[in-house]
Amino acid sequence: MLVYHLPGTFETREDHLDLLWEAGATGLEERAGLIRAYFDAHSELHPDIADGEWREEDEQDWQAEFRRTLRPVRAGRLTIVPPWLLHEVEAGQLPLIIEPGMAFGTGHHATTRMAVEALSELNLTGLRVLDVGTGSGVLAIAAALLGAEHALGVDIDPITIPIARENAEINSVPAGRSRFEEGSLGLTDSAGSDGDWQDESVDVLVANLYAELHDLLAGEYAAQLRAGGPLILTGILTNKLPLVREALDREGFEAVQVREDGEWVLVTARA
Ligand code: SAM
Repeated sequence: MLVYHLPGTFETREDHLDLLWEAGATGLEERAGLIRAYFDAHSELHPDIADGEWREEDEQDWQAEFRRTLRPVRAGRLTIVPPWLLHEVEAGQLPLIIEPGMAFGTGHHATTRMAVEALSELNLTGLRVLDVGTGSGVLAIAAALLGAEHALGVDIDPITIPIARENAEINSVPAGRSRFEEGSLGLTDSAGSDGDWQDESVDVLVANLYAELHDLLAGEYAAQLRAGGPLILTGILTNKLPLVREALDREGFEAVQVREDGEWVLVTARA
């Protein structure tokens, strides 16, 4: 199997992903600070993406290696863990089982971990939580495990929805306590109508996206959240924090607080 290893993440190299597709990549994956682009044959690459390395890999080897290197991730009251490491969850911690796969959100990214920590600090009992950009469903499932009465995860990428539903099932989230739908705030669905969930306000809104999108969606966050409801935003690079702060000020959010992990920032605020 031919794989091109490009340093960086989907976020930091967003502008270069099209160049990989144009060069003939058949699939892209992000893992441990590296973009892995799968190719059927060597291909000439644009200079902007020439800083990577071609590798011939044995499929079995890298899958086994990946499974070996995964560790449980402790995030507040929860430990995010692949199914085969369930026995390693410490007593007193709630296991959040995520089968690593095609969707972002195994818990190994600082933004996912910080968002689960922030959810874990809230008393979610009986509340309605909206997770925008749900990926693997990790944040919505965390909310349900932490007592939310209803956790809804939405994502514009349809591939994520069955994955998130399957992860909710693995975690035995009771039927009716979680729901996953293709879509986003401010978007109409393929049938041309708003998702019916957009008509109801939520008590807590969490979104692991990126700064420019938070800026665009900040008005939608304010419209969707009940007055005083907690907002948790991450996926923000430290140098983009001012953009998010300005958007939150503009939309009247209060009690803005920031926490950092390396180059990543998580912001909490109240509607
Ligand atoms: N929530 C997971 C986590 O915290 O690990 C996954 C976050 S991942 C960084 C971002 C997800 O947002 C992706 O699954 C992507 O498809 C989705 N996404 C991107 N733009 C979106 C939008 N405008 N509305 C909803 N989802 C979006």
